[in-house]
Amino acid sequence: MSLDLRERILDVPNFPSEGIVFKDVMPLLADREYLMETIRLLADWARPREPDLILGAEARGFIFGGALAYELEIGFIAARKPGKLPRETVEATYALEYGTDSLQIHRDAVSPGARVIVLDDVLATGGTAKAKVDLVEQLGGVVAGALFVIELTFLSGRNRLEGYDVHSLIQY
Ligand code: AMP
Repeated sequence: MSLDLRERILDVPNFPSEGIVFKDVMPLLADREYLMETIRLLADWARPREPDLILGAEARGFIFGGALAYELEIGFIAARKPGKLPRETVEATYALEYGTDSLQIHRDAVSPGARVIVLDDVLATGGTAKAKVDLVEQLGGVVAGALFVIELTFLSGRNRLEGYDVHSLIQY
């Protein structure tokens, strides 16, 4: 029996700002059946792509990414906001609605040729995911896929990831 993951994702209108409908995955994470089903579905897609590493960004990307890496018996690497990582980093900058933001990973996080799946809870405009793709490629890694629990299709984030293998478990 498969579960409908939508049953544990809450819509929170006007968070964090007016006009945004925030997809709250905390109820899904808190429910063991739904959490296990989510990780199982992510792993089913990821496994045949033979990743060596999962790359997730803070904060929900760490939760899903850590669990997925464990399920796949591979490693997890973290992309973080500038100033959080203690050793030498590389950086990618991406556009926000107003201004820009950046993500960093340790320079030694990806070996040349390593296959990396970039993961996040939500694909919205695709800026964050594209920055993670850039980080992997700056270090000579291969992007084995871009994987999301939720895709907000009306924001067309997939267009930013053209040429990559993109998958989401649920679409709105
Ligand atoms: P984007 O770079 O526009 O694709 O935004 C993706 C990032 O912002 C992800 O890390 C998401 O967790 C977060 N995000 C964007 N929109 C939403 C939303 N409506 N609900 C929850 N998280 C969101």
